[in-house]
Amino acid sequence: MSALQILHRDPGSQARAGVLRTAHGAVRTPAFVPLATKGTVKGLAPHEVAGLGYDMVLGNTFHLFLDPGPELIEHFGGLHEFMAWRSPIITDSGGFQVFSMGHGTVADEIKGRAPTGADRMGRVLSIEEDGVRFRSYVNGEERFMGPETSMGVQAALGSDLALVFDECTPLNVDRDYTARSTERTHRWLDRCLTWHDEFGPAGQLVYGIVQGGVHEDLRIASAQEVASRPVGGIAIGGSLGADKPQMYEVVRWAICALGDDARPRHLLGIGDVDDLIRGVELGIDTFDCAMPTRLGRHGVALVPDPGKRWRVDLTAARWKHSREPIMEGCPCPSCEAGHTRGYLRYLLRQRELTALRLLTVHNLAFIARLMTELRGAIAAGTLAERAAALRGGAAPRAA
Ligand SMILES: [Zn+2]
Repeated sequence: MSALQILHRDPGSQARAGVLRTAHGAVRTPAFVPLATKGTVKGLAPHEVAGLGYDMVLGNTFHLFLDPGPELIEHFGGLHEFMAWRSPIITDSGGFQVFSMGHGTVADEIKGRAPTGADRMGRVLSIEEDGVRFRSYVNGEERFMGPETSMGVQAALGSDLALVFDECTPLNVDRDYTARSTERTHRWLDRCLTWHDEFGPAGQLVYGIVQGGVHEDLRIASAQEVASRPVGGIAIGGSLGADKPQMYEVVRWAICALGDDARPRHLLGIGDVDDLIRGVELGIDTFDCAMPTRLGRHGVALVPDPGKRWRVDLTAARWKHSREPIMEGCPCPSCEAGHTRGYLRYLLRQRELTALRLLTVHNLAFIARLMTELRGAIAAGTLAERAAALRGGAAPRAA
């Protein structure tokens, strides 16, 4: 039986709304999942994250593996207790980070970020059938991660949803490489499931990951392979294309191949406002992305302005004298307190932590309202109309 209970389906798209049941409670779907990469949503306390309307956060297996290490987190009773977030947690497998090192700046290419250099994460020493050997960015030590390592770390973390170890294939490799890599990802999927069968914590759901790059036949084959296994959910990862239309197409291929499979579907690393709307229409149940929190820490606020990719840069000089709020009519704690763009710009110039917190809260509140609105629209049968309004610059309504 699927952990996802689908309560409503949109007649005009693949969208569905429901409840994803986990060992630590329920997640209302479709949902955005904020990143708690190193065991915290940067700058916020767990009750603040929950207060913004989030049911689940994402912990990062790669970073927590290197520091503080799974043994220490296990000592504290697992990641929920360690970070005092007693609601659902999903952990990624570490594959994305490990392969980001080997593929240089490909991770940045995939996610549309400016290149930051391979050394940011460490250095890959070898990629073999067994797994990946690399040099830790923490202390320069040689480390190894393979399917069993990743599942072992995620077992120690005690996450509710664990992702299998996969190779995140980049966009700039040829079809042959992508095909071979995708096949290895399927072999790793089986190793992860075998390990989890024997040693995995009770109640932890394992998600398989669909790869296959931007090749329709490979994506479809990968979706069918993953769906044929006894996985608890299905994630879509890897290079999704050079631009948004291609990304939507790649996601659509995978979803179509899944047919009426009722298991939960997660789209990895995607979180722009227009991508969330489209992803929901395509039938995605959960999303994670660094975007809203990272933008906040860089002085960028989310606002209903499609022409500017829903962003406003509050570090700009033009806000120096501005008495405007971050966003007119926004019910989030930062806007309700009456903080002006001029004040935020000043705090950002001073590198005051308060500014980063205020903007993280605002951005996460914005995305939470967007997801609440999409869920409500699916239930009410008005998704097409609300999606069009949101794409046109309507503000997500308060819950
Ligand atoms: Zn706000």
